[in-house]
Amino acid sequence: MVSAAGLSSRSPVGKRASSSGVLAREKVETGKYEKAGKNMLKDLVAVRSEFRPLEATPPFLEYLADESARLESASPEAIIAWGVEHYAPYLTMATAFGPEGCVILSMLARIAPETYVFNLDTGYQFQQTLDLRDRIARKYGVEVDMLQPELTVPEYEVKHGGPLYKTNPNQCCFDRKIKLLQTGVREKHAWMSGIRRDQSADRARAPIVGWDEKFHLVKISPLANWTKQDVWKRILAEDVPYNPLHDQGYPSIGCWPCTRAVLEGESDERSGRWSGSAKTECGLHTLAEQDGSGI
Ligand code: SF4
Repeated sequence: MVSAAGLSSRSPVGKRASSSGVLAREKVETGKYEKAGKNMLKDLVAVRSEFRPLEATPPFLEYLADESARLESASPEAIIAWGVEHYAPYLTMATAFGPEGCVILSMLARIAPETYVFNLDTGYQFQQTLDLRDRIARKYGVEVDMLQPELTVPEYEVKHGGPLYKTNPNQCCFDRKIKLLQTGVREKHAWMSGIRRDQSADRARAPIVGWDEKFHLVKISPLANWTKQDVWKRILAEDVPYNPLHDQGYPSIGCWPCTRAVLEGESDERSGRWSGSAKTECGLHTLAEQDGSGI
């Protein structure tokens, strides 16, 4: 196992000393990160040819906390570029094609389009979600890998005597999401997700970058500080493809059996997920296996 210091061309301490405060003051120019990302990725692929897992040593955790604090006022593009600089080619992204994921994909396409991006294709996704994958690929040339569970939906439902999402949704999420995420992040050092702090109480404490204890890798949340309005402003300004279900009362979209449109008066954008049960997350963004959410 190695610490971040062993992977980066600059040690955590050296990086802090040389760049502290600079990124926070920078005005982000997307073009700058496009070039930086592509060049960095090319160089780093050559240098980092042998995978060794990261180790969450106390100095490394301290380094991540410092970097996260420093990136608090950085733009999402700068945070993505940070991820590419430090962890490519062992950087990945998981997306459920939510508005946040689509925005990050549009940024990633400019900064580091070679990044491996995957979707947890549970077999229960809406057709509109599956179609969005192709729309993104056409617009940005980013092909999202659809990871599928070992058993098809019919095989899985026969095995469990019916749809498990009705009787044991935690197990269903574990089998059809968590296990796939474990596959997607295999031999990776860092993963990006589209969570925002204002989405839920669970997510309110998410750092910009931090150690993901569940999956044993660095977790990067470029949009942690963005609001829902920020996301939609970017989508509309740049004509980023998005799921048409959002225009039909679905602010948050997961698998069709566990997602409904929000009702009038419901202010929580995730209130249509696992409606009628105590479950609020699928387990991707929480430590406990029994709860946990969409990406
Ligand atoms: Fe199963 Fe529902 Fe979880 Fe999808 S969201 S994996 S259908 S329990």
